[in-house]
Amino acid sequence: AAKQQGRNRYNYFAPFMQEATRVRMALGNEMREAVEREELRIVFQPIIELASGRICKAEALVRWQHPQRGLMSPHEFIAIAEHTGAIVGIGDWVFRQAAREAKRLQQMALPEFQICVNKSAWQFRDDGSNYQEWLDFLAELDLQAHNIIIEVTEDLLLDPASAIADKFKAFRAANMQVSLDDFGTGYCSVAFLKRYDIDYIKIDPSFVSNLAEGTDGITLCGAIIAMAHKLGIQVIAEGIETPQQMQALQSVGCDFGQGYLFSKPISGLELEKSIKNQYAPVDKSLDIHRTTC
Ligand code: C2E
Ligand code: MG
Ligand code: MG
Ligand code: MG
Repeated sequence: AAKQQGRNRYNYFAPFMQEATRVRMALGNEMREAVEREELRIVFQPIIELASGRICKAEALVRWQHPQRGLMSPHEFIAIAEHTGAIVGIGDWVFRQAAREAKRLQQMALPEFQICVNKSAWQFRDDGSNYQEWLDFLAELDLQAHNIIIEVTEDLLLDPASAIADKFKAFRAANMQVSLDDFGTGYCSVAFLKRYDIDYIKIDPSFVSNLAEGTDGITLCGAIIAMAHKLGIQVIAEGIETPQQMQALQSVGCDFGQGYLFSKPISGLELEKSIKNQYAPVDKSLDIHRTTC
């Protein structure tokens, strides 16, 4: 009977699995042309300095406007892009768009504004990782590398194939900053933070969602932040959705916050508008914070 059941189960799932594989392969093929066909979109999620409430950074996030499937989230295609290698072309496109936006913001008299760009471990793997081309592109734009923060995840630091130390050195030499995304979800030790001279860590939303009074969440966040500060690292909390979460993070000295409480990811134009609004002349009382970000 068990055998029979097993076979039925197999028969039941097989067509489903084939369908998933078929979709993945189709997407993989279509993705090769997504950049040329101008189907990629970029959005920016504001990052707020918690002490002042000001937007002083933003994270660039990619979307794929698929001709049949509609607007696709990176969760639906980044893993496939990594697998096929399309991530290199997509990553280059995102980087250029992000740098152009950073340049526009700089021209709005915000010389310190920084745009964060995600870069997955796969993009660092081989010579296709293009880091020198990125630096050349910034020089072309006449943009300081300091206006870009590269966001990497813990798996990159643990990946021996990435030869990451050398590449980080090149970024650093150019004065580009590095942020460690999804902190606390992997196996990254404190030693790595020091060794790779990380500038920012981003506390994962799974910690932020657990900040209610009387839970361990706030103790944990406080400990991470205190440790980071001792190492000269600033902290960005991700996935802030409620004022309570924001206040809890402020109370333990968190530097920056990002999340739906402040803003969803928005277009470059909307980002520029939001920033213009916060620097409106009526807002004189807040001028003192101007220099901080
Ligand atoms: P991430 O880098 O950790 O980006 C943060 C994700 O959290 C974004 O999802 C953002 O929309 C979402 N988020 C922001 N605030 C909130 C909140 O308050 N609540 C909740 N529930 N979610 C929030 P998104 O845009 O779907 O991106 C997903 C992931 O895809 C990113 O996670 C990043 O790892 C990856 N990704 C996005 N763009 C790129 C890219 O250009 N290159 C690479 N390699 N990966 C990218
Ligand atoms: Mg990120
Ligand atoms: Mg994250
Ligand atoms: Mg540092």
